[in-house]
Amino acid sequence: MSAVNHNPEPSELAYVPFVSVDNMMRNVRAIGVEKALMGIAEYIEEDFLRWESFDKKPRIPAHAPQGVIELMPTSDGKTFGFKYVNGHPENIRDGLQTVTGFGVLSDLATGYPVLLTEMTILTALRTAANSALAAKYLAPKGSTTMAIIGNGAQSDFQCLAFKEMLGITEIRAYDIDHSASLRLARNLADSGLNVTICKTPEDAIEGAQIVTTVTADKKYATILTDNMVGSGIHINAIGGDCPGKTELHKDILLRSDIFVEYPEQTRIEGELQQLPEDHPVTELWQVFAGQVAGRTSDDQITLFDSVGFAIEDFAALRYVHDLLPKTGHFEKLDLLADPDDPRDLYGMVLRSSPENGNQAA
Ligand code: NAD
Repeated sequence: MSAVNHNPEPSELAYVPFVSVDNMMRNVRAIGVEKALMGIAEYIEEDFLRWESFDKKPRIPAHAPQGVIELMPTSDGKTFGFKYVNGHPENIRDGLQTVTGFGVLSDLATGYPVLLTEMTILTALRTAANSALAAKYLAPKGSTTMAIIGNGAQSDFQCLAFKEMLGITEIRAYDIDHSASLRLARNLADSGLNVTICKTPEDAIEGAQIVTTVTADKKYATILTDNMVGSGIHINAIGGDCPGKTELHKDILLRSDIFVEYPEQTRIEGELQQLPEDHPVTELWQVFAGQVAGRTSDDQITLFDSVGFAIEDFAALRYVHDLLPKTGHFEKLDLLADPDDPRDLYGMVLRSSPENGNQAA
């Protein structure tokens, strides 16, 4: 469980630990990408296993024609966390990320933040960790080959998580932009994964036991058609995560057993938006808890309709919070006013005013 200190000395709250992008990279390199993925997966599983203790709601979106900004809050009654995240598929044309984010973890008892961190890298890690964790319960046992359609920012992390947590050795990569696949293959060259770049999605899924779709386009896309999907595979559908944005043909959903994070959110945002509101789904946490079976037969098509849920980010924030004392890769951010007398906020402003020739205490 998290090492958030719920009885801190006031002096400990004067600064908020802040993890910049630079320091997140140092943290990940210090611990190793694969170990970080495993660690985050452990934290996610731990939090999914106490699902009932969380305050849950679909994330709060602000839509534009180009994309969406979302706030993702949750709390376990002691600690509060939220992520700010965007999804703008056209950004990439201007040299900007499709997905960026930052997040906060706070102590509910004082309301003071105990962590402020970048979450662009952390989202890629937590999404991959969560995908592989779900696949551990849903994918065919002994899977060795994964097709990955969409070879952008998330894809390297996905491949590494599946290598580490499922023993995947073969990656079959496809992207409409060949240079994206070349980039992925280059980055994974020394990873122990054998990457084959494919010319079509059909070619990519040939012989794969797991298919990950992780494309970005704000439309009802059909990355996989029904005739492409044979029995017995596991589909890890990541990219359909917003109203009006899907990746799979509806007929695939009708042949699949669908697993979701939080149905109330997935029905609005996931592949599920193509189906009636009462279409049966299974909640992942129940599978992790052993309450409901995951994969039950060899010819079953399992589909993880992933949209990304606040509890995964909460777990990732907890992981980073617990990691910092070990690595020391963070700064102390002067984010919260800290007057000597808590009532004397105004006096503190005057004392620190340059016109008065005074410096802050
Ligand atoms: P990205 O823009 O870096 O990469 C997307 C890639 O998909 C690009 O290389 C693009 O060329 C490719 N692509 C687009 N249309 C394609 C098609 N029809 N066939 C094959 N390739 C295609 O984006 P990213 O950061 O890797 O994110 C990918 C998707 O995952 C986004 O839609 C994002 O919103 C989603 N996402 C979901 C979660 C989650 O928890 N479910 C988390 C993070 C990101």
